Amino acid sequence: MTSRDSMVVPFFDYPHVYLSHRTELLALIDDVCSRGAFIQQKELAEFEDSLVRYTGARFAVGVANGTDAIVMALIAGGISRGDEVIFASHTFVATAAGIHHAGGIPVPADCRKDHMIDPSSVERMITPRTRAIMPTQLNGRVADMDALREICDKHSLLLFEDGAQGLGATYKGKHSGTFGVAGTISFYPAKNLGSFGDAGAVLTSEQSVYDRLLLLRDHGRGSDGLIKQWGFNSRLDNLQAAILDFKLQRYDSEVARRREIAQMYQAKLGSVGQLQLPPAPGSDPNHFDVFQNYEIECEDRDRLRSYLSENGVGTLIQWGGRAVHQFPDLGFKVSLPYTERMFQRCLMLPMNTSLTDEQVDYVCEKVREFYDAN
Ligand SMILES: *Cc1c(COP(=O)(O)O)cnc(C)c1O
Repeated sequence: MTSRDSMVVPFFDYPHVYLSHRTELLALIDDVCSRGAFIQQKELAEFEDSLVRYTGARFAVGVANGTDAIVMALIAGGISRGDEVIFASHTFVATAAGIHHAGGIPVPADCRKDHMIDPSSVERMITPRTRAIMPTQLNGRVADMDALREICDKHSLLLFEDGAQGLGATYKGKHSGTFGVAGTISFYPAKNLGSFGDAGAVLTSEQSVYDRLLLLRDHGRGSDGLIKQWGFNSRLDNLQAAILDFKLQRYDSEVARRREIAQMYQAKLGSVGQLQLPPAPGSDPNHFDVFQNYEIECEDRDRLRSYLSENGVGTLIQWGGRAVHQFPDLGFKVSLPYTERMFQRCLMLPMNTSLTDEQVDYVCEKVREFYDAN
């Protein structure tokens, strides 16, 4: 029994992704590899079917990673050279890079108190060259899709979603990734549904977008073997697909555990005046959040972070502490007040299914201790 004073709570426990189901996974890996079923075999098709059933999208296309998913979703959905695409600057650079590599021009917008894209900021960024909006379904929450849909309809814009962090999150009962032309998912190991390497997927309900995605991910090659257009090598490995399908069958209980942890943070930290917590699970009936991350805002952030670190608690500041428009070498010249203030204050507390109740209690105790003493 470790004493409370020496408890260690890593921010994320990578081996846990594998070790929690080691025996079953080894059997599964042995089965797939013994059959030599490495590229575009039945496990990929089965996983895509499972994603369709789980999300309610008409089609799912497994691809090599969540960044390629963005590039190919935008190309397949009709983005072409010079099209401006508005995205939330509080996102991974991959969202903007995806727009860039699809030929578009990434236009950053501000976020709001729940850290999701702010529809009023989106409206201010619209120009005659705007072609699409691509919110990031950040931290396992879906943005205000009614407001974004209204803006898209009013200005004849396409809607895409970077749903890298959103698998299973819903807004008014509709799944992340199913609101627009296409939505993406990342299965990076630290994502809610993590593979043992890189993997991603695109969801769409449009037949023509689906058909183009199948070509794009496999060198532009049709089922007859003929090359129909320039494509990529961005297939989802069959072995990763098998692993992901196995894990997707157990996903609901993982999400339930994340929501339970969020509820514990809410109960123990909700009354700390120096903190602003994410919306509690169930606090807004329109949202079902899956807590990919637990991102708070807090006073005296850097000192709190050091204090937690000294006490064995790992935390993380998302994207290395900057929004996309704050990397000077990318050349953005815009100021986004909420996002910029937030990056002085944001911090992610441990949120993953390897955490025990005792560890969550300990994190809360240390946070309270810091503010009590300061
Ligand atoms: C992880 C992530 C990506 C990129 O996914 P990869 O699979 O690592 O390429 C894109 N956008 C967001 C918001 C992410 O969190």
